[in-house]
Amino acid sequence: MTALTPPLPRLTPESDFYWTSGATGTLSLLRCSACGFYLHPPTPQCRACGSADVAPQPVSGRATLFTFTVSYQQLLPSIPAPYVVGIVALEEQDDVHITTRIVGVDLDEVRIGMPLQVRFEQHDDVYLPLFAPVPA
Ligand SMILES: [Zn+2]
Repeated sequence: MTALTPPLPRLTPESDFYWTSGATGTLSLLRCSACGFYLHPPTPQCRACGSADVAPQPVSGRATLFTFTVSYQQLLPSIPAPYVVGIVALEEQDDVHITTRIVGVDLDEVRIGMPLQVRFEQHDDVYLPLFAPVPA
């Protein structure tokens, strides 16, 4: 790990699929096989129906920006300020919110509700899911 590596999640049996799914270019979330509800953050049991029949499933990676803030303070050497921290709502289920960085957009063009697409920033086995605007 170098100074240009952001803090990375520890891979656990419960969450490693999420952090490594970018290796295939696709974001995966835990989904209930009984009722179809997406579970993020992952839980061993479905919050909607109680089933324990849950498994990772690929999603589109499309989302809209639910809310955001701009950090003007550089807290990490690996992430130059200013940068945008956003919470995105997933297209498949809009109460699935992912806290992430919004990249590939000028600060004055960031808008709540803007359509976004996942992109991955690879650090060894970990693929951080970041989100960028969908090209017009
Ligand atoms: Zn369920």
